[in-house]
Order: sequence, then structure tokens, then C-alpha cells
Amino acid sequence: MQLIRFCGDHGQIRWGVKDADGHRDLTDTIPGVGTIQDLIGQWEEVGSTLPAVAECSSLLAGTPSLLSPVPEPPRIICIGLNYRDHAIESGMEIPCEPVVFNKLAGTICGPDAEVPLPACSKKVDYEAELVVVVGKRAWQVSEADAAECIFGYTCGHDVSARDWQLGRPGGQWLLGKSFPNFAPIGPVLVPAAYMPDPQDLCVKLRLNGETLQDSTTRQLIFTPAQLIAHISQCCELQPGDVLFTGTPPGVGAARKPPRFLRPGDVAEVEIDGIGVLRNRFVDSPKPA
Ligand code: ZN
Repeated sequence: MQLIRFCGDHGQIRWGVKDADGHRDLTDTIPGVGTIQDLIGQWEEVGSTLPAVAECSSLLAGTPSLLSPVPEPPRIICIGLNYRDHAIESGMEIPCEPVVFNKLAGTICGPDAEVPLPACSKKVDYEAELVVVVGKRAWQVSEADAAECIFGYTCGHDVSARDWQLGRPGGQWLLGKSFPNFAPIGPVLVPAAYMPDPQDLCVKLRLNGETLQDSTTRQLIFTPAQLIAHISQCCELQPGDVLFTGTPPGVGAARKPPRFLRPGDVAEVEIDGIGVLRNRFVDSPKPA
């Protein structure tokens, strides 16, 4: 079972599920759960009843226009260099603790959203990532307890302007990671109980149909639970926070010659058990 957030016939925001038969609208079905964020916060109470509720609801005609499953996460936290094979590709040492950075609010967008290429960057790069959505408050939790704080998983694309990320004074990555729509997520949110083993998922990125990243979460240096336990030592995580868990090898900057994104490029992030997150890159609108 996969959760979806989508645009209704009259432009209103709806939520529901996708199953083997199609898409179902559950927005008005469960009292007190009007949004997917409500559902994340109340999952312990309502999660077990959801399959039965979904089964009794009718199928939508056709495929709805899907939106980012978590529209305004309280925090967007990201991990750098978390794949053994990517650290080796980048010529970096395997980190002994997670490399943590963040993306600003305003970067989140959904499946099929267009991503403008900023006029001030010539080196916008792609990064396919498994994204964890936090389901419970997590403050200084152990690794065992951190696993319980994971609500579910989605695909993410950590779009990165390398010329604003690297080689700048202070070494911060924030600006190069925070242009508008630089954090597409989706197309669905899969609750943890419905995911295959998150430590054994293929993670791929295709650009215009060509596979440029192809690895597996078996290569992760730090597991999602280890990451949450580590971050929660310093910052209390909240339901709806999203965590980009790092990218496998094959990014454009590491290619010879480098391959950066161009207007018209279509990137697809595909992860086992979740689906395909597709976004087109376009020229930035000209300033008025
Ligand atoms: Zn990344």
C-alpha cells in the first residue's frame, strides 16, 4: 500500500492510497485525518485500519495528478557521502560519522514538477536518493528506538549546483542545494510496514532514459536508523521531517567529461518498492 497526495478535480488538495488496482481518495473517509500530515501524526491509531478502509472505498477514474507526498516538511536534512561506492568515486575517505547538511524550505516539489535551472549556475547536478519520512518525535534516541521513529520512505532527488556547493569560503553546502524546486520527492509515500527491506533496495537515476546511477542501499555506510539516532542527539526530529540519505556513484560531476543538467533533460529516480520520480529541467524564467 502506498500513500498519495494529489490535486482533485477542482484544484483542491486530496490524499489517498495507491494499490494494485489503482488510486483511491480517502480524504473524507477517516474522521480527523484531513491531510497526509494528519495521517503521519496519527499513524499509530489509524494505520492498522487503513487497508480495510481503503478496500471499501471506490477507485478513482484514471491517474490523478500527484503532488509531493510531504508538502512542507518542518526540516529537510540531508546526508553527504553515505554510499561506500560513491565515497570511493569521489576520492574521499569513508566517513566515520555522518556528514549532515540541509536544504532550505521552498526546495520541496513533487513528481512531474519542473525544476528551473538557475541562470547563475553552470554546474547543476543530479543525485538519486532514498528519502526517509519521520513519523514520531525523536530526541536523543538509540538506534533501536530510531527505527520506530521512521514513518516511511519515498524517492528523492537532491539537485545540487556544484559551483555553489563546492570550493566556496567556509565549505558550506546550503546555497548550492537550496535553489527553488531542488528537492523533488515522490511519487508516493510507502509506510515502513509496507516496504521491502530498506537495506536492500536498488536506487537508480536515468537521464533522458540513460541509466547514470545504479546502486543499492546495501552500500549505505549509515542506515536510516543510525542517521536518525545520530541527528537526534542534537536536534529533536518531528513527524513529517524528511531525511535525504545520500546518493550512490555516477553523479555528473564525477563523470569524464562531467555531465551537468541542461534545459529539456528529464531525470527519473527509481527505487524498489516505491516507484519512479520524474522531473524535467527547464530554463529559469527571465527576470521581469
Ligand atoms: Zn545528496
